[in-house]
Amino acid sequence: MNAAIITIGDEILIGQIVDTNSAWLAENLNLLGIKVDEIISVSDNSDHIKESLQRYIGKKDIVLISGGLGPTKDDITKTTLAEFFESKLIFRPEVLAHIEKIFAWRNVKISEVNRLQAYLPDNCKVLKNPSGTASGMWFEKSGTIVVSLPGVPYELKDIYETSLLPELTSLLKGPVIVHRTVMTQGIPESVLSERIKDWEESLPKTIKLAYLPRPGIVRLRLTGIGEDKYLLEDILESQIAKLLKIIGKDVFSLKDIPIEKVIAELLLEKKILLATAESCTGGAIAKLITSVPGSSQYFRGSIIAYDNSVKNSLLKVKEESFILYGAVSKQVVEEMAEGARTQLGTDYAIATSGIAGPGGGTKEKPVGSTWIAVSGPKNTISKHFHFGEHRGRNVEKASIAALNMLRNIILEINTGE
Ligand code: ATP
Ligand code: MG
Repeated sequence: MNAAIITIGDEILIGQIVDTNSAWLAENLNLLGIKVDEIISVSDNSDHIKESLQRYIGKKDIVLISGGLGPTKDDITKTTLAEFFESKLIFRPEVLAHIEKIFAWRNVKISEVNRLQAYLPDNCKVLKNPSGTASGMWFEKSGTIVVSLPGVPYELKDIYETSLLPELTSLLKGPVIVHRTVMTQGIPESVLSERIKDWEESLPKTIKLAYLPRPGIVRLRLTGIGEDKYLLEDILESQIAKLLKIIGKDVFSLKDIPIEKVIAELLLEKKILLATAESCTGGAIAKLITSVPGSSQYFRGSIIAYDNSVKNSLLKVKEESFILYGAVSKQVVEEMAEGARTQLGTDYAIATSGIAGPGGGTKEKPVGSTWIAVSGPKNTISKHFHFGEHRGRNVEKASIAALNMLRNIILEINTGE
């Protein structure tokens, strides 16, 4: 099989961004034995996109396109493809439901342009985007498969992983492919890759590693490709054992499941009751926890103590602590966790207090500065984090970091900080 890749975007052509999507796709297609023999970049221009497609239709087995699927006016890929494949845009209720879910999670009101992303060509197969609002699209014409993916690298990788790879694998019916996942939390992708560089370089040729980052989390996917499934599984197990020796403390699961699910299993197994006291996360931790069916068995509730008066009246944080240390401080967050634990009668409680941004930062406590505390039967432990500038991502990162901190404390994993 052979393939071509088309990346779309004025930014690439003016040298503002480097086209990493092509390299990533080419590498992954090659792994499947699909030979990429052309890669081109075109501007956000409907005629250019159509011309480049025309060049490959009927000639290549697969054409992968990236970019231009956003909701804004300059993103014209979807309408161009609809014209090219002579399709009508039809409303897909399941896509709208997914977009609404993403907005609800981000706590942002859904806009009309985002609703329009649920209108997709009637003659394409929709590839679900687990981490964004722009769906992937799979068309076929004159023996050529054309797949359109978003430009945002982690969304492109996510769709490839979850939808495209299984489709292509079944199409190829070739070698055996075995995957293993290692979920890490709290280490940025660049730091992680530096730490595991030697291990990565010594991986056997049959094993391929992919980094799949999300806010606060990097998912490592190991793919083994070969003839013998059991041999591949053995190699993967031994490589993962080596990897865990290096980054074991930062790994929260060897299953491809979110942290809230890992917490659910842990709390159920240990029969632990949990509560949260949330300031900057505004209930986001409670929302994650309660998204898991059966959470009522281990989750008592949350006190969203945004204002100091609530921290004081409901969580019993001392007035003098605000005056002496400020609301975003070790002292206050620890008192919040202890307050939640006593007031809600649980074994453990998590508390957060931070500056989510964009306003409210100072030199000493910049935006993103966040304290997280976990109070348990033995003690209360707190930690300071710097998450960054972006409000939504700060809340997301703080929630995930808090859950992983709880896990480490329950399992008595000393992360050495
Ligand atoms: P959006 O919803 O953000 O508009 P999109 O699918 O329309 O997504 P683009 O507008 O083309 O995609 O690109 C969004 C961002 O993704 C770009 O600003 C750039 O940072 C990144 N990006 C796009 N194409 C590539 C590429 N080929 N390689 C690496 N990064 C890319
Ligand atoms: Mg765009």
